[in-house]
Order: sequence, then C-alpha cells, then structure tokens
Amino acid sequence: MDARRNPMIVQKTSVCQICGCNCGLLVSLDGGQIVEVKGDPQIPQNKGGICIKGKFSPQVLYAPDRLKTPIIRRKGGTNFMSLSWDNALNEISERLEQIKHKNGPEALAIYRGRSTRFIDRTFISAFARLFGTPNVTGVWTLCVGPKVIGYKATFGAPLFPACDFRNARLIVLWGTNPSASKMHRYFNLPNDIRKAIKEGAELVIVDPRRHRFADEATLHLPITPGTDTYLILSLVKILIEHAWTDDTFIKTYTSGYDRLCDAAKKVDILEASQITGIASETIMELAKKLGTIKPASIDRREGVIHQVNGTQINRALAILAAITGNIDRNGGLRFTPLPSWDASLGIEDNAKAPSIWSQRYPLAADGTQALTDSVLEQNPYPIRALISISGNPVSALPNTKRTLEALGKLDFLVVNDLFMTETAQMADIVLPGVTFYEKGEFHNEPLKPVPWLQTTEPLVKPIGDAKPEWHFIAELSARMGFKELSEFADEDEVLRRIFIDSGRSDLNPVSMRRGIRFEQPNFGVLLEKGFNTPSGKIELYSTWLVQKGYAPLPACEDSCQCSDRFPYRLVTGSRSNAFNHSQHRNIPDLLKHCPFPEAEIPPEIAADIGVSDGEFIAIETEWGQLSIRAKIVHGMNPYTISIPHGWSGKENANYLVGDASRDSISGTPAYKSIPCIVCREEPESD
Ligand code: SF4
Repeated sequence: MDARRNPMIVQKTSVCQICGCNCGLLVSLDGGQIVEVKGDPQIPQNKGGICIKGKFSPQVLYAPDRLKTPIIRRKGGTNFMSLSWDNALNEISERLEQIKHKNGPEALAIYRGRSTRFIDRTFISAFARLFGTPNVTGVWTLCVGPKVIGYKATFGAPLFPACDFRNARLIVLWGTNPSASKMHRYFNLPNDIRKAIKEGAELVIVDPRRHRFADEATLHLPITPGTDTYLILSLVKILIEHAWTDDTFIKTYTSGYDRLCDAAKKVDILEASQITGIASETIMELAKKLGTIKPASIDRREGVIHQVNGTQINRALAILAAITGNIDRNGGLRFTPLPSWDASLGIEDNAKAPSIWSQRYPLAADGTQALTDSVLEQNPYPIRALISISGNPVSALPNTKRTLEALGKLDFLVVNDLFMTETAQMADIVLPGVTFYEKGEFHNEPLKPVPWLQTTEPLVKPIGDAKPEWHFIAELSARMGFKELSEFADEDEVLRRIFIDSGRSDLNPVSMRRGIRFEQPNFGVLLEKGFNTPSGKIELYSTWLVQKGYAPLPACEDSCQCSDRFPYRLVTGSRSNAFNHSQHRNIPDLLKHCPFPEAEIPPEIAADIGVSDGEFIAIETEWGQLSIRAKIVHGMNPYTISIPHGWSGKENANYLVGDASRDSISGTPAYKSIPCIVCREEPESD
C-alpha cells in the first residue's frame, strides 16, 4: 500500500505489543480500517523487520470471535448473558466489597498477563494499592525470575543484560531459539547473528532440541535436559586448568575467584560427560573456543530458566561470561540501564498483609506460582477473588488440573480479554479488552540494547463495546469510591503526569510517536565505575545470596530424576513463529503456519516405541497424560521429548507439568526436565 499513490491511505506509526520485542510498525489505514502493517525501518530494535505475528496482527483486531460486550454467568449456571458496562462494574464492585469485608482486601489477587503494558500495569497497581491487596502478580515468575535474580546476584541491579551479537566472534545460544521466539529482542537478532557468521563469527548451540539455528552452527551440544550446571562448571574447570580465563579481567573486576576455583576442582569431567550426554572431547572443544575466541556473546533464555535450579544455572552462565572477560564490552554481554519512573500516581499503598509469595520466595518480584496453593490450601492465607487481565492462567500455569480446581473454588472470577479463553470460560464476569491498535501506550521495556522510549496513540476505535484495560480499572475504582484514577482523559495525560512525577517534564508523549533515544548506552561504565553488588565487583561468589540464605556458588546438579517408570525427559514450551503463548490459534493466516501441535522425538525413542513420523504418541508424567503427533528429529538429545505449549484443552502441555517442581529461589515452575514415559498410540479402528 503506497500512501503517495492512493490518497485515501493514511500511514501511522505504532509499536507491536504481541511478544515484548516492541517492534516499530508503519500502519496503513484506508477509511479508518487497518489494511497493512510493515516494520518501521527507523526504529532501532527491529530496523524494519517484523515477524508473521506482527504482519497478521490486524486479523487479531478484526477477528470475528472478538468479545464485544461484557457477559455474566450466574452462580451455578452454564450460559453467559450480555450486560452493560454499568451493570458489570456495579456487580464487580459489590462482589469485591463483600469479599473485602469478609476475608480482608488481600483475598483479592490480580493476574496481569503479558499483554498488559506500562499504562495498564500502572492502573492495576494503583487500584491494588487503593483496595489494599499486595497480590498483583503476573508473568515475572513464569518467564524471567531465575535470570533476573541470577544476574542480579552476579552483576548487581538494576540492569538489563543484552548480548552484542553483531560484534561477537563467538556466539553461544544456550537454551534459546531466536529463530522462533522474541527475534527482535536485541535489534534484528536473526539477521545480526547471520551477518556476524558471514563475517567469520562461530555459532555454538547448547540445546537438547535441534532447532533451526543448529544447522548454521559450528557445534551443537544436544545436552540432556536438567544437567546444565554439570556442563557449565566443567567448562569453568577446563578454562581455569588450561589458563584460558581472562586473568587481568578476573583480578580487576571480579571477587570470589578463589572460592570458584575450589568449587571447580571438585567437578569430574568424565562424570559430567556421562550425565550431560556430551562427549568430553566436545566439552573441551567448547571450552577452548570460549577461552580463545574473543569477544564472545553467551545468550540464554527459557531453556535454562524453567528448571528447578534455574537461578543457579543463570548464575553459572553469568560466571562463565565473566571469567572469559566478556562483560560490559562490545561483542559480549552488555548492560542497558533501566530507566526508572515514578508511576505511583501519588497513590499510597493501603496493603497491610504480606503477599502470598513473599515468605517462601522473598527475592521474587511476583508470585503467580503461589496462587493455586493460596486458593486450595489457604497457604499462607486464602485468595477468594481473582481478576485476570489479558492473561490466561489455565494455559500458563503448571498442573492444569490443579489450576482448574483452584479457579473453580474461587468465590469470584473476573476475566478481561480479547477472546473467550479457557480461563474466561470459568469466569463469573468476562469483559471485552482491546488490542494495541485500540489504545495508546508507552514503550519503555528494555528488550534492546538502546534505551528507547516510544509512545503510541489509538489508531482505531475499540471494536464493539470493548474498553482499554486501564479504562476498566479507572471506572471500577470510581465505583468503589477511589476517584484518583478517574482524572485522566487519555493515555497522554497519564504519561504527562508520570513524566512530571519522575522529574522528566521535558518529555512530551505526543512528540515521542516515533521514539526517542533516552540515554546513550553506557557500555564500559560498569567496568570503570564498579558494579552495584555488595563488593562493587562482579561477584563470582555471591555475598548477597549468602546473606539471603542461598548457596553462593552454583553446584553440579541433575534436576531431572528419571526412574524405570519414567525413563525419558520431557521439555515443554517450544515456540512457533506463529503464536505468542496461548494466543493466535484462532487467526487463520497464523494457524496455517502451524495447524497442530507436534512432539519432537529423537529417532532412538521412535525406534524403541515403534513410531513413525506423523503417528500419534501418548506422553505420560506423574501429573497426567497427553496424546500428540510425533515428529522425528535427528540430532536432538536421545532421551528427550519436546512439546510446544499454548495449545488448549487436552493438548495443553501443562497437564504434564507438576506445580511442586519450582526453582527454589524464584519459585519459577520447572516446565523443562520432567521425567516421562512415551508409547505409540494405536490408531482407532473404524
Ligand atoms: S517480534 Fe513479532 S510479535 Fe514480537 S513485537 Fe516484533 S512483530 Fe510483534
């Protein structure tokens, strides 16, 4: 669509808010309808690139099954009936008042899904403070907890670590697949990796799966799931013993090296080789690359986050990058300072009770994993009402059976969403939410190495009776006697207030529609001025973790205890380009890219159970069973089965995941490394 050739076409800028990469968009509108979406080449984080989810995002906006009006289901009933926003808000406020009166304000929890952003979250937190509940939770624990705590313990906070792939000579992708997930989180990531490879960089993949990038790698280590610390600490030991570490860097910028050396001495490389499934020669080959090729970028994501020792694995990877001197330097791991905003809107916190997770996971920023315990066991106290905004706990939480039981036991469940999700089907009241095209936002998430701020404005009117989420919260607050949130006419007004409160009245939301660079990146500053840790250095031995009662150094652990009954290892959560978690399977042009879920299984297991490509297998864990089509993948770990998440009903991967297996520090569920058994399913005869 060319606006110059067709004067009816208007081009506007926006930011895609589907996956968190915040890709800049150029959006063409014809007569008020969005007709085309392209990447904005002027925005640094995606440089004009977008994925198919961004490309087909107007299909989400105009999807015929969008929720268009509030609906209610009376107690004991099965059918939903439409009702007006007025009646819905009155009903919600009355029910919340009753619960507050009977159980205290902390009996309300609010779950913010990934699609809530800055303004929605500001209003949700403000409402919770006014109401008096500390239990606002979301996807921090589910997505990033171990990484944040592990890196904070090593490098201090608040910092956002990002790999500089473009300038790296060695790129290690450890439990991450940027060809399918968050591909623009550090610039145009797949392109940058490919450009670096073209210019001579080496690519190494450490992953039980054989994903698309493995074909472009010099080395693929199909590690046995759950054994990462064995491999990382073996690399540390070899680097130390062969004097392949960066001694000047270690002496100048780190603390605790002697204690790390003592711990590394105890690592048995042959045992590690056996446990990880990686030949000792290959471990040596990777250690040599890490010790001799500079600079190196070691990137990691959910593969090493969703494990029972996730925080310590992330610590170990941070240590590996530090002892090879690949920190705060071009081509290595660099840090973007996090801008901090006073988004309190001047509202005091009325919450008196501690959050449901704070006693068990005091370092965690939220505690979605504690929701089911709280509802079903009143541990530490009962949650009786839940408002879920732009999220789908039935799909996201481990142990689906228990999640369904907990949601069914609530006195009151309100869901705000675009579509009738499985969580919405369990609700008392469902409210229609909006897409990012129907509301304004402020994009300050640091999923990029350039501190970049951008505002967006609504490009189209909300579909039907849908309302921006922050409007719903403001109107509910007013109904409950909290007028403070009603004074803002639009998103720009909210932002003006936050900029003033944050001492940045120079910022104008209207002039930030195509983004501004907030600050110059300060790479090298930490090396010059010191790290925000107790010692001011990179802490190989974490004094902060000791103080909090946790192990200061990672240790070799196999987090997956297989048995004769469950001899294989299940990894859940493999991504598809077409979907963001449980979203988009109702979007025709996305569904056709991935019409059904498949389990990746190695030829060794396929031969054992006598299954061919495309046939169905049954996977069983201690928690449940799932039937799924098999896809035989050569080159993956021979003991591993990998399945995608986000599918609904009986195909929900979380039926196989236990909720008691959690990272002991962050509480993050161990969606990876689950003992399982698999067998061929006999086709049903006609
Ligand atoms: S990577 Fe895709 S889904 Fe994510 S923000 Fe960019 S265009 Fe949207």
